[in-house]
Amino acid sequence: MTRVLAVTNQKGGVGKTTTVVNVAASLASLGLRVLLVDLDPQGNATTGSGIEKQALTQSIYHVLLGQSEARAVRHRSSAGGYDILPANRELAGAEVELVNAEDREYRLRLALSDIAHEYDMILLDCPPALNLLTINGLVAAMRVLIPMQCEYYALEGLSDLVQTIRRVRGHLNTGLEIEGLLRTMLDPRNALAQQVSAQLEQHFGEKVYRTAIPRNVRLAEAPSHGLPALKYDPASKGAQAYLQLAHEMMDRFRASPS
Ligand code: ATP
Ligand code: MG
Repeated sequence: MTRVLAVTNQKGGVGKTTTVVNVAASLASLGLRVLLVDLDPQGNATTGSGIEKQALTQSIYHVLLGQSEARAVRHRSSAGGYDILPANRELAGAEVELVNAEDREYRLRLALSDIAHEYDMILLDCPPALNLLTINGLVAAMRVLIPMQCEYYALEGLSDLVQTIRRVRGHLNTGLEIEGLLRTMLDPRNALAQQVSAQLEQHFGEKVYRTAIPRNVRLAEAPSHGLPALKYDPASKGAQAYLQLAHEMMDRFRASPS
């Protein structure tokens, strides 16, 4: 069965893209067939996968507008061991161009239905906004993975996201559920982070992944080489944390196979 996971948080810079790229590479290293979909006009997941975004003649933009098939736009990240539907700045136009399209929220879901069977896992990297691109991600997904930094305002932002997920579940995608919350850039010496982390566990219980991703400079350096941390520095704390997360995700899948 193909699992489709939207990695989303409307707050910027919380580690969405880092998570998508490194989880994709980690799951691929465990033998899964993985597709990454870049839904962000910033194209960071595209660059981080070793693909030059300025040179793209076709991208996810053309797929969402119905001008190309997903199959034709797909690239291989040889360093990551996964496939990717890449994005660049052109994607910023999609929101406006789709505004009057009747099926505008369903574009990604429809596009993926052609190729989904070729994969075990499809990971969607959403932009830092609750906009039409993110809604397309939430409609195409079965589950949501929420990366978050354990900061003072983190929980507040989370309630907007949880509400959006509820709205999407009510109208557009009845099966949508939260798969898990991931603590990112965690500094164990930071007392406030520890406090927020504990609150998160209290509030969301089992939904919080036991694996937390530490702040690690290797994770920040790897994208400029177009590599996942697992290839850039496999022994680094960051690469190892994402590998551990991939194992934890697989254990959860085995525990709830649907
Ligand atoms: P945006 O909302 O802009 O799409 P994002 O949520 O995708 O951002 P990232 O781009 O993954 O967040 O991360 C933001 C910055 O923090 C990047 O420079 C990234 O390299 C760095 N970063 C992410 N995770 C870590 C980590 N665990 N340790 C150190 N740096 C990190
Ligand atoms: Mg990002």
